[in-house]
Amino acid sequence: MYALNTCLNSSSLLFIRATNASYYVENNHEAIIDAETFEMVQRELARRTKGKNRHSGVHLLSGRIKCGDCGGWYGSKVWHSPEKCKRTVWQCNQKYKNEVRCTTPYLDEASVKERFTVAVNQLLAGRDAAIAAYEQGMALTLDTTELETQQQELLSEMEILNGMIQQMIRQNAMVAQDQNEYNQRFDALSQKFKEAEAKKDAVAQQISDIRDRRGTMEDFLRILKQQDGEVTVFSEKLWCGLLDYATAYADGRLTFTFKNGSTFEG
Ligand SMILES: [Zn+2]
Repeated sequence: MYALNTCLNSSSLLFIRATNASYYVENNHEAIIDAETFEMVQRELARRTKGKNRHSGVHLLSGRIKCGDCGGWYGSKVWHSPEKCKRTVWQCNQKYKNEVRCTTPYLDEASVKERFTVAVNQLLAGRDAAIAAYEQGMALTLDTTELETQQQELLSEMEILNGMIQQMIRQNAMVAQDQNEYNQRFDALSQKFKEAEAKKDAVAQQISDIRDRRGTMEDFLRILKQQDGEVTVFSEKLWCGLLDYATAYADGRLTFTFKNGSTFEG
């Protein structure tokens, strides 16, 4: 089994579902990832699509480092040194665009990775407490029971209103009646139906958002549980699975905010 060796490159990841519950890359007969990782990838891709600019790049660091001055994202820039060797640095994308120039530092990939490893070890040091708190938080904040009941009630309301509208149309076809009055009653009922439908759609969106968040949190917990002991080298899996974003400050500090909301300096 191969590891996922890039953080998630949507263009190169083309999966098809196979009957034996493993996943295969097209034109490749070896299973490359397990089902859990497949789902994590799908969620990450969905997140990237939603986040617009944030994950537009395919680089591991793209959309992951926030500028402590302006709140914008860091991007890569190639430096041409006098010795004519290229060097890629990361800096705030808005550095020269705002009226007040951002004074946050340039960063290089290797040091970001090294500092991430330091921060991730701090997160791992309090792993058991973090897992417990997180699981408790998940139960409290990510429960969709009430919303599902609400959705069911709205669907019933729509069904009743729909029945009333149908009944009204049938009656109008059979019995002669004042058409102005009929149209008024018809419009009032359709309006009610549309309102219930809009409410139902909003509730359905809320449920879907919560399920997405729950998926992200489950990925986070799973990876946290799997990681036993200290990390000594940079791990893309931990970067992708645990980190929400990093923040670079003008004074040189680089903090890492993990998906459970905790922040550690690297
Ligand atoms: Zn900035």
